[in-house]
Amino acid sequence: MPTPSARALRALAMPVSAASTGSTFYPAVEPPAGANAHDLEVAEFVPFSTADWPGHVVATVYLQGCSWRCTYCFNPSWQSSQSDSAWQWADVVAWMADRKGLLHGVVFSGGEPTRQSMLMSALAHTKEMGYKTGLHTAGPYPARLQRVLPLVDWVAIDIKGTPNDYAAITGVPMAGEHAWRSLDILKDSGTDYEVRITVDPTVHTRDGILGLVDTLTSQGVTRVVLQEARAALANPEYAEALGERGITDVLTHGDLHRLHVR
Ligand code: SF4
Repeated sequence: MPTPSARALRALAMPVSAASTGSTFYPAVEPPAGANAHDLEVAEFVPFSTADWPGHVVATVYLQGCSWRCTYCFNPSWQSSQSDSAWQWADVVAWMADRKGLLHGVVFSGGEPTRQSMLMSALAHTKEMGYKTGLHTAGPYPARLQRVLPLVDWVAIDIKGTPNDYAAITGVPMAGEHAWRSLDILKDSGTDYEVRITVDPTVHTRDGILGLVDTLTSQGVTRVVLQEARAALANPEYAEALGERGITDVLTHGDLHRLHVR
């Protein structure tokens, strides 16, 4: 894909109104005048990973902040908009400059990476340095996702359940509508992607998960990956509700053999 022009990037970096995102309940952070990728709130940086983009050796940048409050969130300390991390975008750039030819790409994860509008500049910067780009998102900002997709080579999108399941999992009304709208945008974009479902025994049933996978498949999704909800870093109420249950309390061994589980 050609590197976007500076003019195109400026246009892409323009703020998205709450009306156009549909994000009335949890607005994304918009950049102050003059802001660029160096204003990113970086929560963590993992210099080498083979787990974050299948078949790729990548560096992963975790961006601070998420407006949802998923019961099973693997790192609630990254939900706040303020990071106490020492990592800066400049550290990531220095690493990329040093590792040319050793990494396939850079993955932007979180938190929710599309919450920060400077993601656009960071993606452009990464591509200008010759790296492929990956994105992990739960899809809370459909319009923002649509705008960054031309700068993204691969996406892992979390689909947490049917739209009706979302309020119980995320604590946010309308979250499911936003996530499924994001999935529609992703499917239409032509960008390579996979759908990830965290199987949550406190919410999901076997019929629910199998029906969800069937719905996604019938809509043209070709890669659905199931993963376990883990209580280790989740809030204590959720850990207590989950108890010792896991994915095998929801799905049979036959299901797990037939479906893709990571
Ligand atoms: S969307 Fe992801 S980062 Fe945000 S609260 Fe849920 S699990 Fe945590």
